[in-house]
Amino acid sequence: MKIIRNSIELSKTLLVTSRSIGFIPTMGALHKGHLSLIETSIKECQITVVSIFVNPKQFSPNEDLDKYPRNEKNDIALLNSLAVDFLFIPSFDEIYSDDYTIKIQSESLFKVLEGNARPGHFDGVLAVVCRLLNIVQPNYLYLGKKDAQQLKIIQNMIEDFSLKIIVQGCQIIRDNDGLALSSRNRYLSIKERGLATSIYSALGMSHKYFLLGERKVGKLTNIFVDNLAPGLEKSIDYVSIVNVNDFEQCDDIIVDNSLLLVALFVGDTRLIDNVELKLK
Ligand code: AMP
Repeated sequence: MKIIRNSIELSKTLLVTSRSIGFIPTMGALHKGHLSLIETSIKECQITVVSIFVNPKQFSPNEDLDKYPRNEKNDIALLNSLAVDFLFIPSFDEIYSDDYTIKIQSESLFKVLEGNARPGHFDGVLAVVCRLLNIVQPNYLYLGKKDAQQLKIIQNMIEDFSLKIIVQGCQIIRDNDGLALSSRNRYLSIKERGLATSIYSALGMSHKYFLLGERKVGKLTNIFVDNLAPGLEKSIDYVSIVNVNDFEQCDDIIVDNSLLLVALFVGDTRLIDNVELKLK
């Protein structure tokens, strides 16, 4: 694996290849969720490029930028054990110029759910992803379904700007007890880690009732809330069902393939998760 920190060097190296390039952008602190994206790219593409960049622009002032886990040595060792071809670790200045003025935004999707809870978050996400895509120019982009709204927004950007990139949304990877893997899980105390498991079991319960024929949004969201570990219902940020195609909120009855999306605090740690509600 070649480690490159300079964007021009990476662009030049990749431009001369006619082989298919798969790209996985990450913020590091790699876990099996990231590795599953990387392994899929290695299977499907001739060249796999991973980036590690903790993007300050996607953190709000009150968020955890300073304490966000960074473990470059560990990450490099993990990636070396896979057949990753290039690891891109840019500095802030490699990505952003001092005086950039152009922002990419989405009319509707920036204002709801994660966009509402984390003002400026998706501006930062698109700012970095757009730049990384231009530097790497991949054929395939691998993103996790855990960040379902981010996946949708990036898909929209790629379509709207006619970028010739195929987006592969990859399944959520979970711990044995069902908790979706996240770099932020390491903030949880042992007690909180136990409580957090109920997010998955509560999602599972809503999913079960959906499979049994329940289509009322209010019922399914209540089932989620009622099955959380006691106390966690007080720290819910949102529990929402949206149409999987356009992320339009379902308010009443589910009539199309949908997603049940949740965000809540366990202690000081904000966790997100979701489950697909597929009609057929
Ligand atoms: P991050 O490092 O948190 O920015 O995540 C980098 C990529 O890994 C994003 O596309 C995430 O959606 C994806 N990802 C993170 N956690 C998981 C998981 N548990 N399962 C699948 N993909 C994940």
